[in-house]
Amino acid sequence: MAEPLLRVRELRKYFPVRGGFPRRIIAQLKAVDGVSFEIEHGRTFGLVGESGCGKSTLGRALLRLHEPTSGQVVLDGTDITALDRKQLKAWRRRMQIIFQDPFSSLSPRRTVRQTIREALDTHAIGDRSSRDAEVERLLEIVGLRPQVLDRYPHEFSGGQRQRVGIARALALRPDFIVADEPVSALDVSVQSQVLNLLSDLQREHGIAFLFISHDLAVVQHISDVVAVMYLGKIVEVASATDLYRDPRHPYTQALMAAIPVPDPEREREKLVAPGDVPSPIDPPSGCPFHPRCPHAMTVCSEVVPPAIKVGEGHVVSCHLYGGNDE
Ligand code: SF4
Repeated sequence: MAEPLLRVRELRKYFPVRGGFPRRIIAQLKAVDGVSFEIEHGRTFGLVGESGCGKSTLGRALLRLHEPTSGQVVLDGTDITALDRKQLKAWRRRMQIIFQDPFSSLSPRRTVRQTIREALDTHAIGDRSSRDAEVERLLEIVGLRPQVLDRYPHEFSGGQRQRVGIARALALRPDFIVADEPVSALDVSVQSQVLNLLSDLQREHGIAFLFISHDLAVVQHISDVVAVMYLGKIVEVASATDLYRDPRHPYTQALMAAIPVPDPEREREKLVAPGDVPSPIDPPSGCPFHPRCPHAMTVCSEVVPPAIKVGEGHVVSCHLYGGNDE
């Protein structure tokens, strides 16, 4: 079997919480807490969960935009976490990010040409004229006309700005892109156009995506494999087909129940989890979902559930599947 493009092992990202006088570290916010997964070449790995579950921090930690606290991120055999700054700059060519908000992620003082060219200039790719030609090629790939090259972001719609952001991410011909809620700031009518563009790019250029979203319907549409994240941990991972057909973790089931279903005859049993996501500064003991779980047992507040294989490529961290059900 071919080696995966990306292998993540026990990744953690903790943020120190300061307080008191004199100010000192009084706690750790565990945004990402021991996450492991793999992404195959040219495939899309979806990552879902409620706001604040650590999805975006995980995406940034993979690219070292947030420096990981511990763990490994191995891209094509090289541990990214072990690289010095100079080595990391070279590897950044292969790993790019598309941000959620196309309004704030583009500099208002830079034209489209300057925005896309910046990466080519920074990495000294080609000469001046070849870079101009490359900018035009990238614009064409994302479906924008060359006439817009010298316009500023405020002259564009949200969908057009996101296309500029995608062209910028493509400039260095990456083989891995973190797409962090790339369509959630866009109108529904524009969302499918941008999703189709990402699918086309994957097919034509073999790019692998980590696709982060709180919207399960969007993730289902675009992903090969989907992981569900809760309080900094992955609680279930499966192929998109298996996860949506047979969600096993009570949290995944609650998320699924919250997806609007247009056909009333197919309406699912409502299982929306009560309460808010607990603080990652002081997460619950045992299974972090136990205060909200309708199936919680005594063992759930005492023992962290191990990852249990429940099907081919389908893994769930829940005591219901470990022979502990009471
Ligand atoms: Fe619910 Fe227990 Fe499973 Fe956690 S381990 S999801 S509390 S049944």
